[in-house]
Amino acid sequence: MSTTHTDTLAGTITHWIGGKGWDGPVERWGDVYDPATGEVSARVAFADVAVVDAAVAAATQAATSWGRASLAVRARVMFAFRDLVERHKRDIAEILTREHGKVLSDALGEVTRGLEVVEFACGIAQLIKGEFSENVSSDVDSYSIRQPLGVVAGITPFNFPAMVPMWMYPIAIACGNAFVLKPSEKDPSAAVFCARLLAEAGLPDGVFNVVHGDRVAVDAILAHPGIQAVSFVGSTPIARHIYETGTRAGKRVQALGGAKNHMVVLPDADLDLAADAAVSAAYGSTGQRCMAVAALVTVGDVADRLLPRILERIRRLNVGPGLEPGTEMGPLVTGEALARVRKYVEQGCAEGAELLEDGRSLKVPGHERGFFLGPCLFDRVRPGMTVYQDEIFGPVLVNVRVATYEEALDLVNANRYANGVAIFTNDGGAARRFQNEVQVGMVGINVPIPVPMAYYSFGGWKHSLFGDSHVHGREGVHFYTRGKVITARWPDPKHRGVNLGFPQMK
Ligand code: NAD
Repeated sequence: MSTTHTDTLAGTITHWIGGKGWDGPVERWGDVYDPATGEVSARVAFADVAVVDAAVAAATQAATSWGRASLAVRARVMFAFRDLVERHKRDIAEILTREHGKVLSDALGEVTRGLEVVEFACGIAQLIKGEFSENVSSDVDSYSIRQPLGVVAGITPFNFPAMVPMWMYPIAIACGNAFVLKPSEKDPSAAVFCARLLAEAGLPDGVFNVVHGDRVAVDAILAHPGIQAVSFVGSTPIARHIYETGTRAGKRVQALGGAKNHMVVLPDADLDLAADAAVSAAYGSTGQRCMAVAALVTVGDVADRLLPRILERIRRLNVGPGLEPGTEMGPLVTGEALARVRKYVEQGCAEGAELLEDGRSLKVPGHERGFFLGPCLFDRVRPGMTVYQDEIFGPVLVNVRVATYEEALDLVNANRYANGVAIFTNDGGAARRFQNEVQVGMVGINVPIPVPMAYYSFGGWKHSLFGDSHVHGREGVHFYTRGKVITARWPDPKHRGVNLGFPQMK
């Protein structure tokens, strides 16, 4: 590939339409920051309605022949893309670290988890198989097939700029659709880098397109009659807006929203294991993961034994620029995100929660203008407090003390979000009871971030998902295809004759 990661970070980032960078007019630009320095690192083109129209036109033109391409051809492109992503893993990870701020090892992990979906999509020939029933009536056969929808779109958040789009487009494309991606305007380069890799893998021009921008681009996608389906991942208010607007416009929509993931710790748990897990899951990626543990629920006397272990670990965390070796936690994504999270910490104190660790005074030498915040830990948080109710999306863990398992379960089930949850215990019976009783989409048993593998589907319940279908796995294949059932009888002279009765299978 002639383009290196530095090309996509060198000043301007533009749309990718019809197999090439957009060279048409750009009315508006947005700033992209390096979160470690607080400096603007690039500017990104913001699409208007005309740009979205151009992307949908390119996708529409490509969709018909791509939908007819053999399964062998589609699988081969996915295999080639898989190899290219593997080869450029580090380039992609560096782009993620520079624009998102996450540490390089975490960025590499993100690319690896995205690749799992590409690998899943390589098996499209197996995944898209229909069913066949011979002789459902005399000389009549029935069979089902799944066909692509045409042009579909994805709108994605800032926190996983490579992986979340990969939850969508590999499967959509392998199913025979053309795709229009609107990535987050905060870290847009990875999407264009992957678009170039798809082209290099042999994907025909127009099958994958990227439009950058804000709500103007999103609203144009939602209103466009040429787009059949929209996958969205982001915050709950926007997910609801996407779902309501998209379905009103007649589109198939899956909209994954925000989260407030709980980690319940029972008194019999291995507390060193639980402390390691809580720290990794709460502060990894600076708390900016939709599956981050945001609320600890400590049962009985657990808090007094667990919190000192957590404090000891977070006080040793190395916070700094994500590209520096040895860094464990990077900055927040923007200055705005930093201000919002700091405000939550103030609010928690004002509402009477006990701040055991205050990361607000953290200074990273040489990076004074970076968007850094050290780990924060609140104890004695009550369910009515804002720091418990809201998704903070930063390095802030809150602990709620409860007396019993039942109280813990009721607390989790009363929360409006229901993306992920974890229970830590050595009691198999308690874990099994929890897995059955908890009303959450993804459950971890002694696993803090239970993100399913690509061949299962990912998604939450309640305000963490609008729509019926989770992403990737079988549900992903179903979302990007439409079912058709064929009932066939090949002419046999003995069946001639008019019959106005309702057809019966005999
Ligand atoms: P966001 O909702 O602000 O943005 C998501 C996308 O929507 C972006 O592409 C953005 O440009 C667009 N957008 C933003 N405001 C819009 C508006 N008013 N109208 C139309 N489009 C708009 O989310 P974010 O801050 O980028 O990402 C963090 C959020 O995403 C968190 O709430 C996190 O929990 C959630 N998330 C959820 C999952 C999940 O699987 N459920 C996964 C990752 C992130």
